[in-house]
Amino acid sequence: MTDYEIAVIPGDGIGPEVVDAALAVLKECEARYGLKINYTFHDFSADLYRRTGRKITAADMDEIAKADAVLFGAMGLPDVRGPEGLELGAQVEMRAHYGLFSSLRPVRLFAGVESPVKAKNVDMLVIRETSEGMFAGLGDEHEPSDESASDRMTITRATCEKLFDVAFSQARARRKRGTPGHVTLLHKSNALRSNVLMEKVFDEVAAKNDDIGSAKFYIDAGAMYMVTDPQRYDVIVTENIFGDIVSEIAAGLVGGLGVAPSADVNLTHGVFQPSHGSAPDIAGQGIANPTAMILSAAMMLEWLGERRGDDRCAKAAQSIQEAVESTLASGPRARDLGGTANTREVVDAVIDALPA
Ligand code: NAD
Repeated sequence: MTDYEIAVIPGDGIGPEVVDAALAVLKECEARYGLKINYTFHDFSADLYRRTGRKITAADMDEIAKADAVLFGAMGLPDVRGPEGLELGAQVEMRAHYGLFSSLRPVRLFAGVESPVKAKNVDMLVIRETSEGMFAGLGDEHEPSDESASDRMTITRATCEKLFDVAFSQARARRKRGTPGHVTLLHKSNALRSNVLMEKVFDEVAAKNDDIGSAKFYIDAGAMYMVTDPQRYDVIVTENIFGDIVSEIAAGLVGGLGVAPSADVNLTHGVFQPSHGSAPDIAGQGIANPTAMILSAAMMLEWLGERRGDDRCAKAAQSIQEAVESTLASGPRARDLGGTANTREVVDAVIDALPA
């Protein structure tokens, strides 16, 4: 009997390399914790589109949604573009199709990793809204031309309420493991009407969650504080495009994209993927840092465990976290962190470090 069905989309570039790495760690955990996971592989990628013109459809996404969760590598190649001139990326389509409104992006400075900007004690969760904003696909009121093109930022009360509920409950859950329990909204309500509504709903939800502290900064000052004073943040919540940018600033604080996992979730669906892209500059060399993908797989187990009340998943997720932490502290170091280890060496070290 299978406990969980996982749909796997390796994607482009280093996507398949880091997915292989995460699967090796997951398989090791299955044996240790008596989990039976069945993986179904789906070959959607920008490369497939380039070769055949085939891209993910609504029917494909409905089929994929029969799985309990999706493990996603990375998709997109800068030179592969659809008819509108935009890059191919099933991640954007899945967020819209499944209504994945929150992207959880934990960012921690692990022991043994030096912050490129010498930041200390960074431990924050960036929650990026991922179903609306300027990625909502509502597009132009007018067809783009060579002279002018526009994108519309849309924010709805319903999504804000769900998003802020997630932010405050994540802050409450994080407080149990020692963080302050605090939510900051990054927004631009001085200039964008959509953000005036977002701020209003934030104030309402914050008032209902007054056991958790809250703050609001304009995105421009808030982005500066991420670099000058990152300790002021516990949970950051923000709209789609701001979240896209600040989550990568946050990743940069703690050593880069190679150690930054993410989970795009709503109450029923979850797509787990690293924050990084397909990294075409290092693809095929076996040197990608698999840490972000491995941590994303751990987030998947944690999410599955919470939904089903399955303690085995929670324990497996915790073991992966600990094994990654000990590898970063004293194991082989990937090249993006200043070491010389290749992907396989890092994965082997993580597997060796899994608690017995
Ligand atoms: P990228 O994240 O792929 O790479 C940025 C830099 O970080 C590169 O120098 C790369 O080598 C490095 N890097 C990224 N992940 C790494 C890892 N695991 N180990 C070591 N180094 C790593 O971003 P980009 O270059 O702007 O985009 C490349 C392609 O990926 C584009 O086509 C873009 O659209 C796509 N993309 C996809 C996703 C996704 O699938 N969710 C996210 C972002 C970008």
